[in-house]
Amino acid sequence: MRRKLAAGNWKMNGSIAALEMIDQLSQAHGDAGCEILLCPPAPFLIPAREKASSGPVAIGAQTCHAATAGAHTGDISASMIAETGATHVIVGHSERRESYGETDAEVQAKAKAGQNAGLVAIVCLGESLEQREAGEALPVIKAQLKGSVPAGSTGADLVVAYEPIWAIGTGKIPTMAEIAQVHATLRADLKDLLGDAGNDVRLLYGGSVKPGNAADIFALPDVDGALVGGASLKAADFSPIIQALDAS
Ligand code: PEP
Repeated sequence: MRRKLAAGNWKMNGSIAALEMIDQLSQAHGDAGCEILLCPPAPFLIPAREKASSGPVAIGAQTCHAATAGAHTGDISASMIAETGATHVIVGHSERRESYGETDAEVQAKAKAGQNAGLVAIVCLGESLEQREAGEALPVIKAQLKGSVPAGSTGADLVVAYEPIWAIGTGKIPTMAEIAQVHATLRADLKDLLGDAGNDVRLLYGGSVKPGNAADIFALPDVDGALVGGASLKAADFSPIIQALDAS
């Protein structure tokens, strides 16, 4: 049985004061059946962990370097993230693939580094609008999955997030049939890649998830939760998404 996951990606937003939201989520969702994760900017990992203490909110980072240490100014290693008490790391977000030219091989190396440090790697993938309109969404996603997922991954150290690039921060989402088709494809390919373990890997949908569309998305087969950007910045938006996931 895969435990559902509501993951929030703050991107380069928020502040120490905004971590107050962790108290609000902890109070509202102390008995949540689903897992709740917030990924604030790296400087806030330690105060976020302190706020989260033993409550229901886990803390994760938004990227890591593939190397364990060295001359990489400005970067942070997976073991440094683990030392803060964070438990997850997002890798291969489309904004990093686009802005930093991260390739599938680099994403795979980062995911492996995260897993080696004891973190759960959340591997993001998704097609561009041009690729979807050209009918190439599925081949693109299948290639990204194959290239980005480390061999030997399990449900305990890997989560995959399907995030169509054109749906991120735009208010647009694919049809429910399109999301279901991609998730079914990812599930089948994960089983091919990882054997039985592929059945345990959680599949998140990401891209303009809001309180108003969350329940419909969570009702789809093989959607085990969401990776949420904008709507994870305020408890008033993230809380109803968590509730919808819990109720699904
Ligand atoms: C994201 O950045 O991963 C994301 C899904 O953003 P949003 O929810 O704002 O579309």
